[in-house]
Amino acid sequence: MIVSLLKFDGSLDSLRRAIEMCGGFDKLRRDDRVLIKPNNCFRHRITPPYGMVTTSKIIDGIVRLLLEYGCKDISIGEGAIIDLLDDLKPYTRKGFKGTGIDKVAQRHNVKLIDFNEGPFVDMDLEGEKVQVAKAALDAGFLINVPVLKTHFQTRISMGFKNLKGCLSKASKKKFHNTNRLDFLICLLNESIKSDLILIDGIYMLEKGPETLVGKAYRKDIIIAGTDVFNCDTVGASVLGIDPSQVGYLREYAKRHNRSFDIRNIPIKGEDIESCKESLQWQFEPDKELLAPANISGLKSPSPGQTLCCGCAATLALALSIFGKDNPNMDFGDARLYYGKELYAENDAKNVFLYGNCGIKSNKSLQNAVRIEGCPPTLTTTLIVLMRGLLSKPRALKLLLIRAVKLMGIKLGIYSETFPGWDRYRLKEFDETHFWLRK
Ligand code: SF4
Repeated sequence: MIVSLLKFDGSLDSLRRAIEMCGGFDKLRRDDRVLIKPNNCFRHRITPPYGMVTTSKIIDGIVRLLLEYGCKDISIGEGAIIDLLDDLKPYTRKGFKGTGIDKVAQRHNVKLIDFNEGPFVDMDLEGEKVQVAKAALDAGFLINVPVLKTHFQTRISMGFKNLKGCLSKASKKKFHNTNRLDFLICLLNESIKSDLILIDGIYMLEKGPETLVGKAYRKDIIIAGTDVFNCDTVGASVLGIDPSQVGYLREYAKRHNRSFDIRNIPIKGEDIESCKESLQWQFEPDKELLAPANISGLKSPSPGQTLCCGCAATLALALSIFGKDNPNMDFGDARLYYGKELYAENDAKNVFLYGNCGIKSNKSLQNAVRIEGCPPTLTTTLIVLMRGLLSKPRALKLLLIRAVKLMGIKLGIYSETFPGWDRYRLKEFDETHFWLRK
């Protein structure tokens, strides 16, 4: 099955060509119930969206082409989980607003669906009972529109992983809690078939999936096809990630006798060699988030593959804030452990166990400080870290100032930037791709 790999010049024609070259609409019927599934894991309005979420520019283009084709029943659906600034409440609709997808829907009169609002259908994935959004299962034609990005846990997050957004909140957690994440992602993609996969490569993201840690670059390509394995294999190769090392691709290849040899994939358009990058996918929170603030003595080792996005996102924001508020400080030998694979080397008051997984993995420790939650809230994280690492008066003062700033962000009257974000002021990062504040 053909994969188009095309330079995107911003025009509707460019998008049309990408779809035509891979026969993307060949099986589409005008009376199909069409569902577009973007990756809209937008956490809060302060995070730069580049390379992290699907651009509304591409979603707008897809809707236009569907209307031009004669489709009448078109929806855009997502099931995002947490709002970091609002006690982890579901935020799909805020996400649609934050990235301009709500305006696309209004302009073309298409429906927006928050999968979190249900209904769900029970599904058994080889013994794992999960709930999948009925809207995703009922779709006559599913267009899967992920971003060209790396992921600290699964190496890449593209077509396969994007469908995890169709699960209920509890099922998403279950995927992470079973130690069978890759296998379950593979099974999910056998149960929900993507009819067209269109990887939005206007931007790409290194050390993803969030721009708090990751670094976005302009790329201007589109990868499209009707086979999710081929598309993700091409996407991974473009980023410089070996697809045979991506767990769920390996599972799928095993079950379906598929090859990772890129020469077996018919690619139309650009020469893949000329598009290849070499992006990193792993990150170490202390190096990425605390070192820029010249903070030393607070170590947080690389999380391995058992820290899920909930804890990673909250922790990334908390450490970014903590670093910004306490530059040039040395905390001696404090440690932070999280996920299911990090085991503390000693039991002391300057050892922090983050999230229920981090606590469970180190349950024999008596003196370590626990930051509870699945994931913990941003407020809890900041309070425990500041109280544990700073003098009482300093912690109190900073927490009060922080509370006011966070309230200002929530009300939209204050905005925050972090080291490294200046690059997003460059011309190549075009906020109209998300119709931000327009
Ligand atoms: S505690 Fe954190 S890492 Fe563990 S399942 Fe919950 S959100 Fe994921």
